[in-house]
Amino acid sequence: MCRLRALRTLVPTCLLLVACQPSQQVSTTDIATRAVSVVATTSIVGDLVARVGGDRVAVQVLMGPGVDPHLYKASEGDITRMASADLLFYSGLHLEGRMTEVFEQMARRGIRAVAVTAGLDRGVLLSPLEYQGNYDPHVWFDVSLWARTVPGVAQALSDLDPTHANDYRSRAAAYAEELNALDGYVRAQAQRVPAAQRVLVTAHDAFNYFGRAYGFEVRGLQGISTATEAGTGDVQRLADFITTRRIPALFIEASVPPRGIEAVQAAVRARGFSVVIGGSLFSDSLGTPGMPEGTYVGTVHHNISTITGGLAGVPSHTATQ
Ligand code: ZN
Repeated sequence: MCRLRALRTLVPTCLLLVACQPSQQVSTTDIATRAVSVVATTSIVGDLVARVGGDRVAVQVLMGPGVDPHLYKASEGDITRMASADLLFYSGLHLEGRMTEVFEQMARRGIRAVAVTAGLDRGVLLSPLEYQGNYDPHVWFDVSLWARTVPGVAQALSDLDPTHANDYRSRAAAYAEELNALDGYVRAQAQRVPAAQRVLVTAHDAFNYFGRAYGFEVRGLQGISTATEAGTGDVQRLADFITTRRIPALFIEASVPPRGIEAVQAAVRARGFSVVIGGSLFSDSLGTPGMPEGTYVGTVHHNISTITGGLAGVPSHTATQ
């Protein structure tokens, strides 16, 4: 698996960089009197920690909008930031496939790295055959599943900063409640697409939890990790599928270059059928900070509105919570 091969070749460089950094770990004795310094890998994880931590945490996110976590490698600056943090949060389940051993190295320096998916019951996770025994890491597409990561974040923050444990617990409870309401909203919106049209074709196989939770058949041009390039055969097979099933729309993803999906659209056109690009979905990163899509809740609204609009011409109301 090229993703894992790449990890093995990259790690020695990262470890060398860590070894060269003077230890900058901040004392935790005064943690109750200052903000907890957190580094999060993806913007999705950063948003989760910020919601639970509130003004008690200062969150730095390593991967900005549109960055692909499957391919992301820690830079020297990232390693400096991680070495200076009180606590690291990452998504886990090999989403950040090229960073895992860096977290382990940080842990050996006394900086805890917490996978927000670590507390999820493995029985609820998808484990597709083609992923060779690993779990599908894209759990945030099932909003009810993502809500289950909230208590673990509160616990990790409380372990470090027990003085404010009640604050973390109460914010976590409120956010989990908001997410469970959002899950109900997405479920209701999905029902607006006629059952026969509930087929979601995207750039990579990120939406299987979405499909399972909200009743969509899901096809991705690339596999679960974007580390495996789609070939001509993949494009042709997907074009055949779309043409045969008369699927009206396919979707690009903000963190994956659009050329693959555009090639599928052209191949469908060559078969005498027309499929539109129904819009761009947020898959593995949030949108621009400060915009509605800069939050997890905002991207969930954007995605379901785009999907229902593309497949059934019934965009949902994004202002509705
Ligand atoms: Zn992905």
